[in-house]
Amino acid sequence: MPAFGMEGKAGRRAWRGPLAGLAVWALASPGMAVPARSAAFDIVPLGVEGGLVEGATTAWYLAAHAAKTGLACDAGTLVPGIRAGREHGAFPKGEDDGTILHERIRAYAITHAHLDHVAGMVMASPDDSAKPIFALGPVNDALAQDYFNWSAWPNMGDRGAAPQLGRYTYRDLSPGSRAQEVEGTDLALRAFPLAHGGVLSTAFLVQSGPDAILCMGDTGPDAVEGSDRLDQLWQAVAPLVRAGHLRAILVETSYTNARRDEELFGHLTPRWLNRELERLAGHVGDTDALRGLNVVIGHIKPSLALAREPAVQTIARELEESRTLPVRFWIARQGERLTF
Ligand SMILES: [Zn+2]
Repeated sequence: MPAFGMEGKAGRRAWRGPLAGLAVWALASPGMAVPARSAAFDIVPLGVEGGLVEGATTAWYLAAHAAKTGLACDAGTLVPGIRAGREHGAFPKGEDDGTILHERIRAYAITHAHLDHVAGMVMASPDDSAKPIFALGPVNDALAQDYFNWSAWPNMGDRGAAPQLGRYTYRDLSPGSRAQEVEGTDLALRAFPLAHGGVLSTAFLVQSGPDAILCMGDTGPDAVEGSDRLDQLWQAVAPLVRAGHLRAILVETSYTNARRDEELFGHLTPRWLNRELERLAGHVGDTDALRGLNVVIGHIKPSLALAREPAVQTIARELEESRTLPVRFWIARQGERLTF
């Protein structure tokens, strides 16, 4: 069972806003039967926004359940997310910002080089500890060329403009490669390319023993992207879903259903996410195997014209309305830990 469900502390706290009766934190239908399993992963959303607000953009701390170390999947926000996590009791008492940044986060896995996915890492780098950056080769190249280049920022990496300070070690992953162990953690990583409006993005399959979490970077639907990358990803993870080993999918839903396909710019809406999940179910071959599959939503695009809460509530409602599968949707909130 998740640590916080609709009955849990965080679930209750999430009942806010004008839409009484809509729990935006956990959207599972009451009474939905979810098989009881021991926890495999802890997830702390360090940043859940898709832009606009600095100190809140996308990053997830992922660790094997109760482990002292893990990694950050994307790093749009680090220190403000760590502080939010400490405020919410997501990390053990007594661990300060430095302990969490330096010792708990042992590696970065970067889905793509857009600023809202890397800004926290760049800003924290002068105070960070040495660690690897796992990414597809072109994504690591972009980090070296566009950020750690002595023009945008000192070169904290071991590639690109001299002198290379070498605090970060780029670790290129090949698409679909066999799992790479992440030193100092109980985790291993595989990388799958995603199409993101002409930009290469990545889904990381983060494995701990037989179990896995899928941390997906920004992506558009295959039908809009003219791509088969999501289809290939769904095919690759279908056996894990069938075996009950995929504990959660962390995925963006940037826009509400009102957004036209021509203006998606490589992102998903609730309707498109549900359609893509149906394609996953097609590869799994058994809808029942998706019962209770945790689908955690992040990267909701805030705008000054539409405050976050209405956008979150609309997306939460639309996810339910267009839902055809017995999955369990969660809306990630900064600093509020999920255990799956
Ligand atoms: Zn992006």
